[in-house]
Amino acid sequence: MDRYCVFGNPIAHSKSPEIHAAYAAQTGQDMHYERRLAPLDGFAEAVRAFIAEGGKGANVTVPFKLEAVKLAQALTIRARAAGAVNTLVFSDEGIIGDNTDGAGLVADIVNNAGVPIAGKRVLLLGAGGAARGVVLPILEHRPARLVIANRTVATAEGLVEQFAALGGEGVVSACGFADIDGAYDIVINATAASLSAEVPPVAPSVFAPGALALDMMYGASPTVFLQFAARHGAQLRDGLGMLVEQAAEAFHLWRGVQPATADVLQKLRAQL
Ligand code: NDP
Repeated sequence: MDRYCVFGNPIAHSKSPEIHAAYAAQTGQDMHYERRLAPLDGFAEAVRAFIAEGGKGANVTVPFKLEAVKLAQALTIRARAAGAVNTLVFSDEGIIGDNTDGAGLVADIVNNAGVPIAGKRVLLLGAGGAARGVVLPILEHRPARLVIANRTVATAEGLVEQFAALGGEGVVSACGFADIDGAYDIVINATAASLSAEVPPVAPSVFAPGALALDMMYGASPTVFLQFAARHGAQLRDGLGMLVEQAAEAFHLWRGVQPATADVLQKLRAQL
């Protein structure tokens, strides 16, 4: 039986084993997926040990996504653009690093929420790891504009510079929260502010009529950002769909089969 796992520290909270077990059952794949707690100073050793045991691939979560970039012998374009790896494939050519987080977010917006990105005005709040990972997949859908707003403006400006040559020229720009201009069809909160129950200080006017507001965080109740967006007429989406979709992308990469995600998303939501 082919073996996969997710490496993190801590890892007990990870929903990935449940998600991949559901995908494997649904698609009839003979595989096993488990949680692996890697020591904070022993990620590379933990991965090598898993390969020696016959592991075929792995997901990587906090805090090892950057270390996984260094460990991989080859990176996909989207992993290089994201500067982070969340999926490893152990092949005959060595360790390949990919990043499926951004594709997962885009799949959730376009397929699950039914909101096309093409031609839309997109506002991305935050410029950390999660934000950086979604820029290229968003640009690939050809939005009319993509504004990256961050507390530290220089970090957002760095992303604009990085992505100018990757389809972002004339489309992507950066600013601080107070300088956001105009209204947006899709507003994505990729800041860590929700973790401390804070709302990034943006004006309610950022939500265009009927806008989609998405918070990458998820939990039993809507985040304070989603509560704020609801008060200003937006449709709401949390990060659970992104989680389920990034797993589907990884599953496809490993097994060559695209699992259906709707039932899995519904089941996870019922357990929150
Ligand atoms: P990082 O630490 O890399 O980046 C944090 C970002 O949030 C930075 O842009 C930072 O701004 C900003 N920030 C932090 N605190 C505040 C605040 N109080 N007000 C405004 N901005 C703030 O974190 P990640 O990018 O890895 O994660 C961000 C969020 O995305 C987390 O909530 C995480 O749980 C979620 N996530 C969800 C995933 C999913 O599958 N659903 C996958 C990955 C992440 P500055 O640059 O100024 O410090």
